[in-house]
Amino acid sequence: MKEFDQFINGRFVKSTSSETTEVLNPCTEAVLSLIPRGSVADADAALAAAQAAQYAWKSLTAIERAGYLNKMASVIRDNRLTLAQTLAKEQAKVIGLAQVEIDVTADYFDYNAAWARRIEGEIIQSDRKKEHIFLHKAPIGVAVGICPWNFPFFVMARKVAPALITGNTCVIKPSCIAPNTIMEFVRMIEHIGLPNGVLNVVCGTGPVVGNALTKSPVTGIVSLTGSVLAGQRIMEAAAANITKVSLELGGKAPAIVCADANLDLAVNAVVSSRVIFSGQVCNCAERVYVEDAIYDQFMESVTKKMASVKMDDAFSEDNPDMSSLVSREQLAKVSEMVEFAKKEGAEVIVGGSRSERFTKGYFYQPTLLANVTQQMQIIQEEVFGPVLPVMRFASLDEAIALANDCEYGLTSSIFSENFNKIMYACEELQFGETYVNREHFEAIQGFHAGWKKSGLGGADGKHGMEEYLQTKVVYAQYR
Ligand code: NAD
Repeated sequence: MKEFDQFINGRFVKSTSSETTEVLNPCTEAVLSLIPRGSVADADAALAAAQAAQYAWKSLTAIERAGYLNKMASVIRDNRLTLAQTLAKEQAKVIGLAQVEIDVTADYFDYNAAWARRIEGEIIQSDRKKEHIFLHKAPIGVAVGICPWNFPFFVMARKVAPALITGNTCVIKPSCIAPNTIMEFVRMIEHIGLPNGVLNVVCGTGPVVGNALTKSPVTGIVSLTGSVLAGQRIMEAAAANITKVSLELGGKAPAIVCADANLDLAVNAVVSSRVIFSGQVCNCAERVYVEDAIYDQFMESVTKKMASVKMDDAFSEDNPDMSSLVSREQLAKVSEMVEFAKKEGAEVIVGGSRSERFTKGYFYQPTLLANVTQQMQIIQEEVFGPVLPVMRFASLDEAIALANDCEYGLTSSIFSENFNKIMYACEELQFGETYVNREHFEAIQGFHAGWKKSGLGGADGKHGMEEYLQTKVVYAQYR
């Protein structure tokens, strides 16, 4: 069993708290590692290190900073298999998907490094003679990144890479459920020569370490990926110092399947979107609306597809589609939501309960529900499990109204072969992202941003990088 310490000012140091948290393999329930259940003092020490390092870091040229990001990408590629295995083990992510996450994370560092020569200000025409108005982009200072358990490694890079390339220093707080891959990575980059204090990692709970990092006057920006509840707590804590927040929160993605859709494509996309990583992906189809004319055909096909989903240990050579849920709590939540849906009248077509096939772990069967209505909890609240409720609609306007009738606004999708319908839906859907005729996965050069309760600000691409910059205007009068 491994033990990790806090990574502060370029060194692994003991937490001031002696309490620890056990990290489990969700498939076997075996203890994988012990991490510190850190203290407010740990958070403050990490912030102080980041603050002390920031002036020298921002004084490097952007291309010098980019060099470190490229080195991080190389370290990830050199250790691809080890990192993927650590990731697969700590959160029951099937090994193939874990490898994809590791590869995309390396690409993410390189992608952000490539912005080094493209971070631009502006020169604006003045109303006065002999004056230039210079608009500069400056780093904010110390960036805090608070990570979830579902894509812990990728989300770490989503915060670290744009923060560092723009001249900020960084403190990362991993989720207590899946911190191992981040901690292994930090061990691996100890030798790349990154100046001390530029990147710090402190483990601990949200209400203690996360809260202390958020409410400190040292913090310039807090970027959270997590639940709406954590987002609300972070906004409250950030209010103390009017600290900038960037929030990537939950979703309840609707998929609209029109009568003219390519049915096979729609069924395959919706099912793979729903079962990938056992349904624990914020942007994947959580509810499906199918047009009356093809409803029966869709249900026949989707039933077969859901019933054939392979579930197994994350390392199974059978190449499963999904594995265990991440934790006992997650299993309890998914089970309770499905039981409640049944009580409210939902009909279970496939699955509908915990899998009895496994004596250990938190395996929940791929589940298909029909006879659901718009007001049910299963249609309104994020399940975060392999559960697909399907409803019918009569017109595209009705489908769009049903899709928008939700407090989340992260992602959505439409399946149709009619360009006019697609364009109309893209205009009317109140979501930060809409996928047309494909499953839900964003690109690193796009912009991932939730509307409504799904978030504030966003990540990825040019606009995600600019979250970590603040603007200064200089009015330069000359004679
Ligand atoms: P969570 O909210 O329980 O935890 C996320 C992080 O926030 C953890 O590190 C946690 O310790 C921290 N935290 C919790 N309370 C805090 C507080 N009061 N102050 C500071 N930090 C606090 O979420 P989770 O269970 O790890 O992840 C699942 C959730 O994340 C789902 O709702 C999912 O939709 C969402 N998510 C969103 C995106 C996105 O891009 N929008 C991506 C992945 C996951």
